Amino acid sequence: MGIRLKIPRIHPRADSLKKREELIKGEEKGVVAKAGLIAHGRGEAFDYLLGEKTIPPALFAARAAAASLLLAEHPVISVNGNAAALVPDLLVRLSKSVPADLEVNLFYRSRRREEAVKSILIKAGAKKVLGVGRSASARIPELFSERRKVDPRGIYSADVVLVPLEDGDRTLSLKRTGKFVIAIDLNPLSRTAQTADITIVDNIVRALPNILAAVEDLKRLEKAELKLILGRFDNRRNLSETILYIRERLAALSRE
Ligand code: ATP
Ligand code: MG
Repeated sequence: MGIRLKIPRIHPRADSLKKREELIKGEEKGVVAKAGLIAHGRGEAFDYLLGEKTIPPALFAARAAAASLLLAEHPVISVNGNAAALVPDLLVRLSKSVPADLEVNLFYRSRRREEAVKSILIKAGAKKVLGVGRSASARIPELFSERRKVDPRGIYSADVVLVPLEDGDRTLSLKRTGKFVIAIDLNPLSRTAQTADITIVDNIVRALPNILAAVEDLKRLEKAELKLILGRFDNRRNLSETILYIRERLAALSRE
């Protein structure tokens, strides 16, 4: 057990430090993998470049993501250790609002971590959590070992999958099996960001409330209107706008 830091509320990086603490606690409880801590640090670096706020292309992508979740026959929200440690309540709320299934989907899979992630989701109000134990019995082709296990009732048979903080190899495999992939990834250059159908370049703690608000807003629309929203979205273009935004921001910051 590490020594807990007391973070003064007025500290300029209080929120970021609080999130770090949540992840460290998650690691100690066996929810977050050690590599998850490293992934978080990489995310933080990109968040600095964005100014730690939702930028317009991310809001646009969140709205398209909501439309595709509402249009899906069988949408599934994939949950890894970092997501469970940071935003369990929001994941459960989104799954109820769409509605979509929740599936534990771990890069470093162990029975203990599966159960730990499931129990966080149950505590946050989830009624059903897929992908734990023997129920993760199907395999995504072309991936090796424990990384390819999925639930036949969940991701395996899903048409739309939301993957917060996913690895590039696994995103590519999901694409190859014909899924429509929505990614939340702070790094617009990662293979996940580049491969997904909709990439929300934002911190998961800000992206999920935006998707949730958009789902609540778009729910009342007809399918044809949702299709129009989705049709207007182009991930390539949106990623270009994201990278341009970062460039402009850095240019402004570098001016004296
Ligand atoms: P890829 O495998 O897609 O090429 P990678 O190997 O750099 O990328 P992974 O560790 O596989 O990255 O995946 C984790 C991703 O999650 C990283 O791109 C990181 O920027 C992102 N990430 C980390 N924390 C957050 C967060 N809180 N919100 C959104 N994204 C995050
Ligand atoms: Mg990776």
